[in-house]
Order: sequence, then C-alpha cells, then structure tokens
Amino acid sequence: MKVSVDRALCYGSAECAHRVPAVFAFEDGYGVVRPGREESADDPRLVEAAEKCPSQAIVLTE
Ligand code: SF4
Repeated sequence: MKVSVDRALCYGSAECAHRVPAVFAFEDGYGVVRPGREESADDPRLVEAAEKCPSQAIVLTE
C-alpha cells in the first residue's frame, strides 16, 4: 500500500510527524510523506496515524 497526504485537507496539526516521524515530516505548515517512504503503508502505525489525523488528510491506497 501507499501513503500520501492530501494537502487540500491537511490543516497542519503536525500529529502525523510526531506519531510516525520515520515516515511523516512537517514542512511549510503541512504534514508530508518523507521522500522514499511512500510505500510504507504496511506499517500498522500508519493506519493509526490516518485514523487519528484530525482532518482525515492521510490517504492509504492499494
Ligand atoms: S495529522 Fe493530518 S492534519 Fe495533522 S499535519 Fe498530519 S496530515 Fe496534516
């Protein structure tokens, strides 16, 4: 699975970057997926990060 952040939805709480810093970073006021970590979605912490993102901006896709 792949992970991405929908910047149109993200409002910059930075929770993803605190929760899974190996995958997410906080840049220019938005959560972003670190380069090269887009295929990290097998990690169960990402499911939790997506569920807890307050704006539902973290997208997990097949
Ligand atoms: S947790 Fe969600 S709203 Fe907060 S920075 Fe990450 S993607 Fe954006």
